[in-house]
Amino acid sequence: MMKKAAVKSSEMYTIDLTKIDGDGTFPCPKCGTIISPDDESEETYQIVETIVKEDELAELVLSCMKCKSKIRLVGFLAQKGS
Ligand SMILES: [Zn+2]
Repeated sequence: MMKKAAVKSSEMYTIDLTKIDGDGTFPCPKCGTIISPDDESEETYQIVETIVKEDELAELVLSCMKCKSKIRLVGFLAQKGS
């Protein structure tokens, strides 16, 4: 379940990329807008924060442009599996 963060201002959802099939596209947990990591137009989402650990992208925090939810993407490192 996605109930960890008790953020007051805006809701925060967590998406685990290792649990997503395909190219990493997922629907916004709140409004259902399809968010594609390959879409860099910033029409559907905006990158709020990039968290790098040991020179590898570890987490990404996005903001859905439609409903303004914060979406935290995790699982980048696990996905690579070097
Ligand atoms: Zn949304």
